[in-house]
Amino acid sequence: MARIVMKFGGTSMAGMERIRNVAARVKHVVEQGHEVAVVVSAMAGETDRLVGFCKEASPLYDPAEYDVVVASGEQVTSGLLAMTLKAMGVDARSWLGWQLPIRTNEAHAKARIGEIDTVDLLASMGSGTVAVIPGFQGMMEDGRVSTLGRGGSDTSAVAVAAAVKADRCDIYTDVDGVYTTDPRIVARARKLDLVTYEEMLELASVGAKVLQTRSVGLAMKEGVVVQVLSSFDDPTQDDLPGTLIVSEEELEAKLKEDKMERQLITGIAHDKNEAKITLTRVPDRPGAVAHIFGPLADAAINVDMIIQNVGRDKGETDVTFTVPGADLARALDVLEGQKDVIGFNRIIPDTKVAKVSVVGVGMKSHAGVASAMFQALADRGINILAISTSEIKVSVLIDEDETELAVRVLHTAYGLDAPVA
Ligand code: ADP
Ligand code: ASP
Ligand code: MG
Repeated sequence: MARIVMKFGGTSMAGMERIRNVAARVKHVVEQGHEVAVVVSAMAGETDRLVGFCKEASPLYDPAEYDVVVASGEQVTSGLLAMTLKAMGVDARSWLGWQLPIRTNEAHAKARIGEIDTVDLLASMGSGTVAVIPGFQGMMEDGRVSTLGRGGSDTSAVAVAAAVKADRCDIYTDVDGVYTTDPRIVARARKLDLVTYEEMLELASVGAKVLQTRSVGLAMKEGVVVQVLSSFDDPTQDDLPGTLIVSEEELEAKLKEDKMERQLITGIAHDKNEAKITLTRVPDRPGAVAHIFGPLADAAINVDMIIQNVGRDKGETDVTFTVPGADLARALDVLEGQKDVIGFNRIIPDTKVAKVSVVGVGMKSHAGVASAMFQALADRGINILAISTSEIKVSVLIDEDETELAVRVLHTAYGLDAPVA
């Protein structure tokens, strides 16, 4: 007998027929004698719909009330799944974030999970009752509901798996594993049997939305065994292999066993949710940049790429940087409020940008990855607006309309295309 956390994403929970399919899959696992907790997302599209209402109510909506609104999607699906399981003869109950509780820090809309009380949960699971837990939500110190940021149900699942010391955390989604890039963009993307925590963390952080970044970081820290699988296979059959996330050592051992070389590039990801901000005519003197990024940091707005142009005449310069699209309105508000302190002339926001990134641990010991990227993009006339790099990643900012083309071009350039069948 194993203790398993099963997580089902929005597409898997979209409508009663799919929920019945999920229930049948859970039932199959329970009948094998395993102890099961299920973490669910809201129905596909529901969170977007709820976010839309919040924006309509007020562009600078109150984050605490935003959480009240958007957490509701998962409440609905957790109740529906528990009901469906019972109707199929499987004992089950839902546990809302505040009922366990799943405690988080005080950052509304992007809260981090702290502790999860597991006493009642484990007692209930131990008595054979399937626990159905809404993902994405938790409870703050003051008792208010919090949410974990978009895609946060993955993190809920990994956090629950760590808290109950589960043998596995199976993430069921609408693709059958992690691919070399988004298979919806590149038909010849290849499924990875294994990917390391480090590479998955980097891929997720630059936009491969198959797993939320924090879920991977948490799994790495807590040693949770995570597997990405399709929820669309026959639910009464044993799962087909998906992608297993492994440590460096496990990957190296497997490569050795198979007498395979490690790929230089693991994958390519894109992110259309970035926004670019340019501040013109910022004074070119010590402290100017701190005046821009200090207040943004205080407002918990993450800045990613930064370019400070070469100073123009009169000791002035332009500063360009990117922030998450969802934080753009707040970032502009913060910067306008600091206009006199920073001393810029104009703010130019641009949401029609995308970040495309190549990721691979092989880069650490291999030169030329970035230049190959720039050349491949140049050959297709794709203009680069900003660049950033880390030890195992190179990212470029480009015009949003060229995203798909750039991803395809790079996938081919790095030799990642699957052979034509
Ligand atoms: P869920 O609702 O199950 O959480 P998501 O939509 O959040 O599912 O994530 C799954 C989607 O991630 C896939 O449908 C796919 O389009 C996208 N995706 C992006 N990059 C990758 C990748 N490298 N491998 C697999 N899927 C990817
Ligand atoms: N429903 C939330 C979202 O769409 C959380 C999730 O599905 O992981 O972002
Ligand atoms: Mg997701």
